[in-house]
Amino acid sequence: MKTYPLIVDGQLITTGKMLEVHNPADESLVGVCPTADAALLDRAVAAARRALPAWSALPDAERVAKLNAIADLIEQHHAELATLITQEQGKPQNGIGANVEAGGAAAWTRVTAGLSLPVETIQDDATGKVTIERRPVGVVGSITPWNWPMLIATWHVMPALRAGCTVVAKPASCTPLSTLRMYELMNTVLPPGVVNIVAGSGEIGDRMARHPGINKIVFTGSTNTGRQVATGAISSFKRLTLELGGNDAGIILPGTTIDPILEKLFWGCFINAGQTCAALKRLYVHESQYEEVVRKLADYAAKVPVGNGLDPNTLIGPLTNKAQRDIVHSFVEDARAKGARVVSGGVLPEGAGFFYPLTVVAGCTDDMLLVREEQFGPAIPVISYQTVDEAIARANAVDVGLGGSVWGDDLDEATRQAVRLECGTTWVNQHGGLNPLACFGGVKASGIGTEFNVDGLKEYTTIQVVNIAR
Ligand code: NDP
Repeated sequence: MKTYPLIVDGQLITTGKMLEVHNPADESLVGVCPTADAALLDRAVAAARRALPAWSALPDAERVAKLNAIADLIEQHHAELATLITQEQGKPQNGIGANVEAGGAAAWTRVTAGLSLPVETIQDDATGKVTIERRPVGVVGSITPWNWPMLIATWHVMPALRAGCTVVAKPASCTPLSTLRMYELMNTVLPPGVVNIVAGSGEIGDRMARHPGINKIVFTGSTNTGRQVATGAISSFKRLTLELGGNDAGIILPGTTIDPILEKLFWGCFINAGQTCAALKRLYVHESQYEEVVRKLADYAAKVPVGNGLDPNTLIGPLTNKAQRDIVHSFVEDARAKGARVVSGGVLPEGAGFFYPLTVVAGCTDDMLLVREEQFGPAIPVISYQTVDEAIARANAVDVGLGGSVWGDDLDEATRQAVRLECGTTWVNQHGGLNPLACFGGVKASGIGTEFNVDGLKEYTTIQVVNIAR
């Protein structure tokens, strides 16, 4: 059985209490990695602090070259990394799956390498010169989730490196292997201590949030854990980027032609078996087209192959862990008990693996858990509305706001309605599409701060004003 090392100060750590990682498609053992204790975390933070002065002082062009070298390495190891992602997380190789995730990691790395933060000159005259300059925030703690494990790790570590920070990372316990392997590759081109990675339970994450040697935490995961991270981080006034859960609404405007949008609508809801922070999680449909949409969505879902992600025909894999499948099924059962109609799926399968059928639930009301909470799985509640104002109000009546979408034949009208949604990204006639140059982040309890592009890069810096009198 392969052991995936932790990396501290450039050294591969292969011993300690071992964490077993299982394939959610058949529950077979994929690999093991050591877990870190508090002492190893301290060593990782100390190594990152030691590496910080030299890394942050490196000329810009050299850091850019290192990032591009990392992108090359991710591309050279694409097949290995994509296979590992499927084995530990479950998403298929094909479709919007592991090949997209590993390819996206390389692409995001290159785009991040190409960003820069030039000095802004506010005043430059006979009386003086004032500039706004960006300094690396310091040691960054990166805590990542299990749904897009390697891609999200990339979103954290690459801007940190680009800005001149050093990093201590902790991946999710059910999907640490692809991230560990990526960090191992990164360590072949970076000086020791610049990027360190430890694995372990949420307790290690909590220690990171409170650790006095870490200057900033970037966290992607659930809103509840994000709240705990923020509470821990404030004790030492750490900077924070939190990318938390969402409960994205999609609204189909009255009179929309359904067939041309059906494929995008389906993938907006069911991408990565619904385990995506900005997936469409509540679908609002005008009463005049309600039955048509429910039927067409269920018919579409019935044709999508669900299975082991290593099978090239598979387009949707299992859920990543049993706990998540239990949550999804309990939400579907709650809806059923409150009078909803389960049009497709909704039955817990027998056998190995954490599969859940693609589930379309009709007759949903806003009091059902499937509508109120983030299901994070392949079960979409379809909700009928009478007026567009009512749909917008119901879409906004939650405490989270990551994404949202409006669908319609008239793009101007759809866009007018889309910007009324209280969320960080609003899509028109699509849901969930990301672009490394389009900032991504949530409003309300979906997070603090933003990722991607220059605004995302700035989150890994502090401002220093240089004010010179002449
Ligand atoms: P968590 O938010 O608990 O886990 C995310 C990361 O935080 C993991 O690395 C986890 O480690 C770590 N962690 C756990 N507890 C702490 C803590 N106290 N302090 C610091 N770090 C901690 O997600 P869950 O796995 O529990 O998922 C539950 C729900 O979260 C899902 O149902 C879904 O709604 C949402 N979610 C949202 C994601 C998103 O992209 N927005 C991603 C994943 C989940 P460990 O794995 O070792 O517990």
